[in-house]
Amino acid sequence: MTEKRFQESYENRISISIPTNDDPTLVICAKCQSKAVVTLHNDEARLTCPICGYNLAKTAEEKTFYWDAENPTDSYFGVNLWLQTDCVGESLWVFNKRHLEYLENFVSVKHRQCNPNNETWTNSSLASRLPKWLKSAKNRTHILKGIEVLKSKYNDA
Ligand SMILES: [Zn+2]
Repeated sequence: MTEKRFQESYENRISISIPTNDDPTLVICAKCQSKAVVTLHNDEARLTCPICGYNLAKTAEEKTFYWDAENPTDSYFGVNLWLQTDCVGESLWVFNKRHLEYLENFVSVKHRQCNPNNETWTNSSLASRLPKWLKSAKNRTHILKGIEVLKSKYNDA
């Protein structure tokens, strides 16, 4: 059996929070509490709820970077993230699909390796900024369960 290794990505806390064409940030609609999306088109950020039609837009330059572990929100509108769940008394949350995949990869592999271009993870790397409870081996099983919860929420209508 070959062991999977964790390869640090080039994502950092800012890049991972930015929606891409096929990977929007999932948020809770402020109006109807359904799953809504934040997308980015050229220089415009847009929040759209497919259920109630709630719609907000602003220029992407007005990005406000939120990284509140207790109350995580998207980076443009400060709206609560859809992909959140309680895990070992903490809040497990992600912005989007690639963030979810990143965490799953990070938590599930035993041997983590550094970015080959660096001796150690840089302070700006995502892995270096993850909270201790997420890195703790004793929490691994619980966190993987939490990630499964987030995956099913991702697929919720
Ligand atoms: Zn709505």
